[in-house]
Amino acid sequence: MTLTTGFVWHEKTMWHDNGSAAGLSPATGQFQPGIHVENAETKRRLKNLLDAYGVTPQLTSLTPSEVEESVLTAFHTPGYVELVKSMSNTAGGSVGESAWAGPGTFDIARLAVGGTLTAIDAVVRGECKNSYALMRPPGHHAERDRGRGFCVFNNIALAILEARKQHAIERIAVVDWDVHHGNGTQQAFFNDPGVLTISLHQEMLYPVNLGKLTETGEGKGEGYNINVPLPAGSGGEAYLLAMRDIVVPALAAYKPQLIVVACGFDASYFDPMSHMLLISSHFRTMTDMMRDTAAQLCEGRLVLNHEGGYSEFYVPFCGIAVIEGLSGIDSGMTDPYRGTASVDNQRIQPHQQAAIDAAIHGPLALLLRRLHS
Ligand SMILES: [Zn+2]
Repeated sequence: MTLTTGFVWHEKTMWHDNGSAAGLSPATGQFQPGIHVENAETKRRLKNLLDAYGVTPQLTSLTPSEVEESVLTAFHTPGYVELVKSMSNTAGGSVGESAWAGPGTFDIARLAVGGTLTAIDAVVRGECKNSYALMRPPGHHAERDRGRGFCVFNNIALAILEARKQHAIERIAVVDWDVHHGNGTQQAFFNDPGVLTISLHQEMLYPVNLGKLTETGEGKGEGYNINVPLPAGSGGEAYLLAMRDIVVPALAAYKPQLIVVACGFDASYFDPMSHMLLISSHFRTMTDMMRDTAAQLCEGRLVLNHEGGYSEFYVPFCGIAVIEGLSGIDSGMTDPYRGTASVDNQRIQPHQQAAIDAAIHGPLALLLRRLHS
């Protein structure tokens, strides 16, 4: 039997409600209420595009279930878990910095963690050739004791910690190409050489003052965290060179048994929450690079987990390109913006190359020294 790409989707995770907002802050009666920037529409429109172009039936449908509280407390503090639970029983309330629990969020966020775990489990068991989890709320900013940046529970960190209990996997790599720094995942594994964390992000964007080159891990984890802060305005060539010259060599040296990608689409040209220039073909090429690297290093074991991405009209084009890359399916869909003058200016600039060189000579060199010592 030919294995296909697994796809995790559950409508209930679309019901996580960040409430009325002025962009990302609660409107609280002081401002004209609009829809919060992290809402279901970007994700639903991606699912709808996959359906409309006949992709969904060609994927292996994976159904998640809510994880138990004991899974959550493998990383999060019991006090934080209780806070999310109590806020979920109200009309909604803050659970950290720009993080909100609406009615029912406790169960919905446990389902999102279960989605990432299901995506990993199916790949490690060899039931799918790779997988994509399209869930919300996102997770990579969620820290041990608080939500951050629209993230409630750290889906990837929790799923990895649980998967390691169930399967004999000693080395896992997380590649985070969400435009924001993967601070929560970095925190979860900062002392742990069993998880290599790599984050490509716009420098000094979010969280402020995190994601620097000098954050390389601590103790036994020293050298196993690589940050690649890229200047605002970086386009396709900068990202693809960072992938080729930093991410792929780091993975080749580390030899993970599983690669998990924190797949945000907010480095896109059209995203309202960042200042980068990627288009769908760049996300497709980055996916191809991860698929080829996983094939060489770990029998193709690759899981993509949906994170940020806030352009309602453009996230779906990027998402379908990535899922085509993972699965090999040709949907016939054409990105209407690809190849148009409006998304030009993709060549690398000298200051962007300098940022890549700094990561090569800094954290990548440190990882290689650690692995060869
Ligand atoms: Zn993001």
